[in-house]
Amino acid sequence: MNAARRPLMAGNWKMYKTPVETAGFFAAFRPLIRGLTDRDVLVCPPFVDLEAALRGAEGSAVAVGAQTMHHVAEGAFSGEVSAAMLRALGVTHVILGHSERRQYFAENDADLALKVRAALDAGLLPVLCCGETLAEREAGQTEDKVDGQLAADLQAVEAAELPRVAIAYEPIWAIGTGKTATPEMAQETVGFIRRRLRSRFGEAADAARLLYGGSVKAANIDQLMAQPDIDGVLVGGASLDAEEFARIVRFSEPA
Ligand code: PEP
Repeated sequence: MNAARRPLMAGNWKMYKTPVETAGFFAAFRPLIRGLTDRDVLVCPPFVDLEAALRGAEGSAVAVGAQTMHHVAEGAFSGEVSAAMLRALGVTHVILGHSERRQYFAENDADLALKVRAALDAGLLPVLCCGETLAEREAGQTEDKVDGQLAADLQAVEAAELPRVAIAYEPIWAIGTGKTATPEMAQETVGFIRRRLRSRFGEAADAARLLYGGSVKAANIDQLMAQPDIDGVLVGGASLDAEEFARIVRFSEPA
């Protein structure tokens, strides 16, 4: 882990929890992470829980993010929300390009280039996801896949904006499957991403936070966070449980 980049420990609740359950989570979670000041903690619930999450997080260091957004400010786009709407609510972060959005809702790299730009313009901090399928990994295409996604999705981003961008490498075969990439596999691809960012943006690439996601749990967090290019994690299932997520957030680096 690089001391210049604050760890970002993020939870993606997907389509789980009601507002009442959200309030209960924060009541249980906050005391468990009290006193931690050297890392950023982010919870991304469904849209309908954002207000309850913001209330639950008030006065704490926990930030609240959305799981997607539209790239235009307003318009005839039923079911969508914009960056400006999220900002007006008090939301600070947004996950973009999660593999479930790409796979089930046809989100593509052209959309994502617009969304990353719109998020930054509105003052939201994007957590941009990338990652390969099992077939792509087995065919030796992991690096080409993530390189292509990031080249396209970050095309409208300037080097000076990289401190405001987090990139989550999430191998699709590891999401929700219980199959975590080994810490070495995660580091290998995250390290590749860092090198590719350096070749495009120069030294500014060292300010971007690179996360790993895919079956992160209390049992594997310490080894993942010990990898030199992994600055944090994006956690799905294990972020729904206050105790488990608190243990993840409280990771300790093995000596
Ligand atoms: C995710 O939703 O981004 C994710 C990584 O899920 P899980 O931790 O459940 O694999």
